[in-house]
Amino acid sequence: MEIKNYIGGKWITHSHLQSIAVTNPANGEQLATIPRSTSNEVGEAVAVAKQAQKSWALIPAPKRADYLYAIGQKMKEKKEHLATVLTKEMGKVIEEARGEVQEGIDMAYYMAGEGRRLFGETTPSELANKFAMSVRAPIGVVALITPWNFPVAIATWKSFPAVVAGNTFIWKPSNETPMMAYEMGKIFEEVGLPDGVANIIFGTGPTVGTALIEHPDVKVISFTGSTTTGSKVAELGGKHLKKVSLEMGGKNAVIVMNDADLQLATEGILWSAFGTAGQRCTACSRVIVHKDVKEQLEKRLLDEMQKLTIGDGLDEGVKIGPVINKAALEKINHYVQIGKQEGATLLAGGRILNEPPYDKGFYYEPTLFTNVKPDMIIAQEEIFGPVVSLIEVASLEEAIEVNNGVKFGLSSSIFSQDVNTIFRAQRDLDTGIVYVNAGTTGAEIHLPFGGTKGTGNGHRDSGVAALDVYTEWKSIYVDYSGKLQRAQIDTE
Ligand code: NAD
Repeated sequence: MEIKNYIGGKWITHSHLQSIAVTNPANGEQLATIPRSTSNEVGEAVAVAKQAQKSWALIPAPKRADYLYAIGQKMKEKKEHLATVLTKEMGKVIEEARGEVQEGIDMAYYMAGEGRRLFGETTPSELANKFAMSVRAPIGVVALITPWNFPVAIATWKSFPAVVAGNTFIWKPSNETPMMAYEMGKIFEEVGLPDGVANIIFGTGPTVGTALIEHPDVKVISFTGSTTTGSKVAELGGKHLKKVSLEMGGKNAVIVMNDADLQLATEGILWSAFGTAGQRCTACSRVIVHKDVKEQLEKRLLDEMQKLTIGDGLDEGVKIGPVINKAALEKINHYVQIGKQEGATLLAGGRILNEPPYDKGFYYEPTLFTNVKPDMIIAQEEIFGPVVSLIEVASLEEAIEVNNGVKFGLSSSIFSQDVNTIFRAQRDLDTGIVYVNAGTTGAEIHLPFGGTKGTGNGHRDSGVAALDVYTEWKSIYVDYSGKLQRAQIDTE
């Protein structure tokens, strides 16, 4: 299958461009090719999007919202097909793929609702017979740069608030998961989204991403990906004075206190550490456990880990699919070797699976380290694979200090049955998301999603907060006194 760029409502063949192959991480099979686009194709798409934005912004927001409702309906009709494509190109198990597509559907309906609530605020003026209000105004053409681990959900968190607010967009999906972008492009086409509102350009990050950031007509860069890439995006965006929204890596922890329900904690840890083969930005990669229950928790985790089935995510019943590619496999294994050298105790896993039936794909054994110290590399850096480290602590204060002692701040969780412990923890855990008696993963789309410190730059995806990325506040004063009135002191 040859995937083409989607510009101005058309799938454009750029036959002079080189192509990039897309493969199934479960078995190495080639699925598709995408064009290796250049700044020329980016320029083409931006010109079309800029033109389209003028009329798109004039359509009332509730009418723009109708398109989102239709997109949600179409995604619902195609849900099983979308989930299957997602599993094939990304590797997550089909049950999780269905959940991710559902998140996109929910986002469509939710943002369609926001189309009827996109009002601003009216406030009293200092003067009589004068009206003051502030409204959310669209910004123009926005660029969406997305990662491979949630190829549908993250694209919907960004594109739906952007379009409902009256912007048009250029989406640069990850090279690993362009088929989902193609599927979404088909849906935009099928529901009759006006030409040029949605545009998709495939290619490498450094080329396409850079061209988007440098283009003078692109006003907002909404990026989700690694902290390394995010800081490059921020640097270049800063140079060109762009509004940049960044959602980046995590080093998320579950805290298990000595009064926790240990079975519940075990289930929460397993799901958030090994779901999506540990490749969620919110994946639990540290367990901060009270010394009184450490041994019991280790035993429960080891027992439950035996039951995890590994394989092709399309096989119902498989719990852990492959990781995204060979480089990821090697990176994970490298961190495991570092963990051993640092003196952590390997309790389970720690191997690349390369014997049949795993030899054609990229599979890593679920891995558990214990006796990990908070300053070890494996407890500090994002591994992005099925590897979890147990760190022992003696108190809630120490647990919070360990949790906060990393450069990231995406999600954290605490298992306890004590109301004082829970309320103190939710206040003091320095992460954008805090879970109580649940693992570190599982977002609801009507709440803001994002993190503190090295995870983000203060913006949020999804929830009503996402509209802040794609709108600017405009203040409007209407004087109906019929005379030139002045506030007592003119400040501006
Ligand atoms: P990545 O940083 O390698 O790539 C992300 C996107 O940026 C891709 O589309 C890529 O092509 C593009 N890109 C690469 N170089 C670029 C450049 N120089 N300029 C502009 N764009 C460039 O990340 P990834 O491997 O695709 O995704 C995994 C990472 O994403 C993990 O670190 C994970 O924690 C993070 N993530 C964060 C969140 C969140 O909301 N905080 C959600 C999902 C994933």
